[in-house]
Amino acid sequence: MGTVETILIARRTGFCYGVREAIDRAKESAATGAVTHTLGQVVHNEGVIAQLQAEGIRTVDSLEDVEAGSAVVIRAHGARPEVLARAEERGLEVIDGTCSWVTAEHRQLARLVEEGYTIVLLGTLRHPEVVGLLGVAPDAIVVDEEDEWESIPRKKRMALLSQSTQPPWKFEKLAAFMVSRAHELKIVNTVCPVTIRRQEDTVEAARAVDFMVVVGGRHSANTKELTRLCEIVGTPVMQIESVADLADGSAFEGYRAVGVTGGTSTPIEDLEGVARRVLEIAGAPAVAGREAELAAAALAAAATPAGRTTSLPRGQVPGVPIAAR
Ligand code: SF4
Repeated sequence: MGTVETILIARRTGFCYGVREAIDRAKESAATGAVTHTLGQVVHNEGVIAQLQAEGIRTVDSLEDVEAGSAVVIRAHGARPEVLARAEERGLEVIDGTCSWVTAEHRQLARLVEEGYTIVLLGTLRHPEVVGLLGVAPDAIVVDEEDEWESIPRKKRMALLSQSTQPPWKFEKLAAFMVSRAHELKIVNTVCPVTIRRQEDTVEAARAVDFMVVVGGRHSANTKELTRLCEIVGTPVMQIESVADLADGSAFEGYRAVGVTGGTSTPIEDLEGVARRVLEIAGAPAVAGREAELAAAALAAAATPAGRTTSLPRGQVPGVPIAAR
């Protein structure tokens, strides 16, 4: 028997609204009977991709894999403008699931390019959102970690923007650094508020428990940042991709309260599954037999409707049993 008595899910977790919206648009399209594809994975989460496949929604890596007349969903990260143009040229029905925050980023960036600013973008070079932004500003200088910043040249007029999921502290630090690089510096804070709120709520949860579990893609920047924040708070933390990574309860030995949080591509139902599993493998005798009930209560205390996996009415997605959604 284990020692865990209390399980907590951080507030405002689950998919961010951009990811949720793109998934909903794909489901809505498939529900009308249209052959529907997503250009690239909507989220890096095998369970979600399998669920979409079960609803007839295929992931493709290239527009050439989509037959004329079918629908193609642009995911929340957005795409280069020429990708959208090419899709239309090919006679595809383009469903633009680009997150409204990212669309605004594209617009702001286009204006700055037109005004002649040298653009510096804080982000990860191959991240799909950055790839899309570079379609608007091909000459932008992309930097990520601090040791790359020295390569930023000195220019008269510069503008700084960020990939939406970069940590706010890093953006602030780079903004301060950039002051020495430009005569005129324009700072457009494009760090997404969802990212900021999630970090705040993770810190709040980490302060309230003895041990944290962070659920999300191994390479996801926003997930790694949540893990780092738990470490800063001083709460022992484990980062996992899914409940399948929780083989035994030894890591939880001696801890009584455990918190669970997740990245913006992790469905909130996955967090409930992790909470339940923690109680199953490491629960104290007092909670034996109540694992599902306590995990559901933790989810109910955490999840706002905005944090749910989908906003579609349940009956609207044909062919999928409710339990699988
Ligand atoms: S993290 Fe923010 S900007 Fe990025 S897709 Fe989600 S809501 Fe949109």
